Amino acid sequence: MPWRPDLLALVELAAPSSCAGCGTAGTRWCPDCANVLGTAAPRPWRPTPCPAGFPPTWTGPAYAGPVRAAVVAWKERDRVELTPVLAAVLRGVLAEALAASAPHTVAVLRGAPVALVPAPSAPSSVRTRGRRPVPELAAAAARTDLVVDALRLTRRVQDQAGLSARQRAANLERAVTVRPRVRAALRGVPCVVVDDVVTTGATLVECARALRAVGAGPVVAVTVAATARRPVEPRPRRSD
Ligand SMILES: [Zn+2]
Repeated sequence: MPWRPDLLALVELAAPSSCAGCGTAGTRWCPDCANVLGTAAPRPWRPTPCPAGFPPTWTGPAYAGPVRAAVVAWKERDRVELTPVLAAVLRGVLAEALAASAPHTVAVLRGAPVALVPAPSAPSSVRTRGRRPVPELAAAAARTDLVVDALRLTRRVQDQAGLSARQRAANLERAVTVRPRVRAALRGVPCVVVDDVVTTGATLVECARALRAVGAGPVVAVTVAATARRPVEPRPRRSD
């Protein structure tokens, strides 16, 4: 009996056999895409225009081509086998961020805690995905750092993807808070906000604001990738 297309789709769902970056059949992550992702040096990054309160931020490759395809597949299509692939990039970015930020370097040298704080996900996207990719990523990238799942959204926010920079900022303004049970523990602790992609910077600004508001130590941020330039707006793509 010939395979029906719907059956093939089911097989693909159960065991994806194409590269998440470029679609090449027979491999989940091909050497060419690994090369694109792995050879980008960690770099400081800021959006243009740069919003007030944007924390010092480091990132990896441009969010384009196979990098973008891999992040979308990992986040939206459950390609969890890419977590270590993306975490390896994030680990390099994190090392660069810790080395470039004097307060964080001092804390690491003293053996004092540095908190990796994942950007919060909307409860609706957690329900849809059945998982929380960014905390998974932070945990996979952490070495001796503490992953503190400290941030949550205090109200419903719109999907950021279709919004302009100004709309994104308004959408997230004062929408993030630090969970009460970790507030005291974060006082004076240098924090690193972790997210998969930085676009306009609105999410990182709001996360940093919330952490600073409870007296957390200096706040910097790391992401796997950054949009190459300002997105064409509006952009109908699902993401948070
Ligand atoms: Zn590939």
